[in-house]
Amino acid sequence: MQTVTNLTVNGTPLNVERISQEVMRRLLARQSPESAAPVAVARNSHLELEVPIGVSVRHVHLCPEHVEILFGKGHDLTIFNELYQKGYYAAQEQVMVVGRKRAIEKVRVLGPPRPYSQVELSQTDALVLGMKLPIATNGADPACQPITLVGPEGNVNLIGQGQGGAFIARRHIHLSDDTAAQIGVKSGDMLDLRIDGPRPTTLHGILVRTKAGWRTEVHLDTDEGNAVGIRSGQMGTLIIPRHEA
Ligand SMILES: [Zn+2]
Repeated sequence: MQTVTNLTVNGTPLNVERISQEVMRRLLARQSPESAAPVAVARNSHLELEVPIGVSVRHVHLCPEHVEILFGKGHDLTIFNELYQKGYYAAQEQVMVVGRKRAIEKVRVLGPPRPYSQVELSQTDALVLGMKLPIATNGADPACQPITLVGPEGNVNLIGQGQGGAFIARRHIHLSDDTAAQIGVKSGDMLDLRIDGPRPTTLHGILVRTKAGWRTEVHLDTDEGNAVGIRSGQMGTLIIPRHEA
């Protein structure tokens, strides 16, 4: 029998049988005789709402000034396709995003332009680029990281520090003011989202964002979508706590 030599107890190498015994010993040692059995807790009832999910691929939002630096003086973004949220679109324009270790080419610009430029990436993208990125809601978050954008006509260095930068988008749900009022939630609330299917999962901390006219839609990033086996357009179940009157 092969001996595994990298696990030892008191300097003695362990073989497979000894490892099993050691694992059992450690597990049993955790159970104190007086520890009570787990107690089931009754929860207040909640509301459930079927909601569409959009999986956001890495993308860039640009301020008008940066559109001109990257794509030329007087340039306006051109629509590639409309997004589910009315008034928002994926633009024809793409940029290269340059991190510390590597760059990612052809990152889509989303319109319309915004007050701050920002780069929304997944954790997988962050690893590729060699960057440590915060979870944030927008580029005005001071934790956002500096990053460089390269366009056909010029480059832009986003400086972070709350003035535009790179981050991983916090999972969130878009709701109209009316829908939010109907289901009794407000901007800034955190909800749960249950995903049924072959990889059943409940995601916590879905940030509520509200604006008049928004269509109900959860936004996850590609890492989250892949982890729970979901693609854009599929549905999830929003769990809405019902507060006691
Ligand atoms: Zn969104």
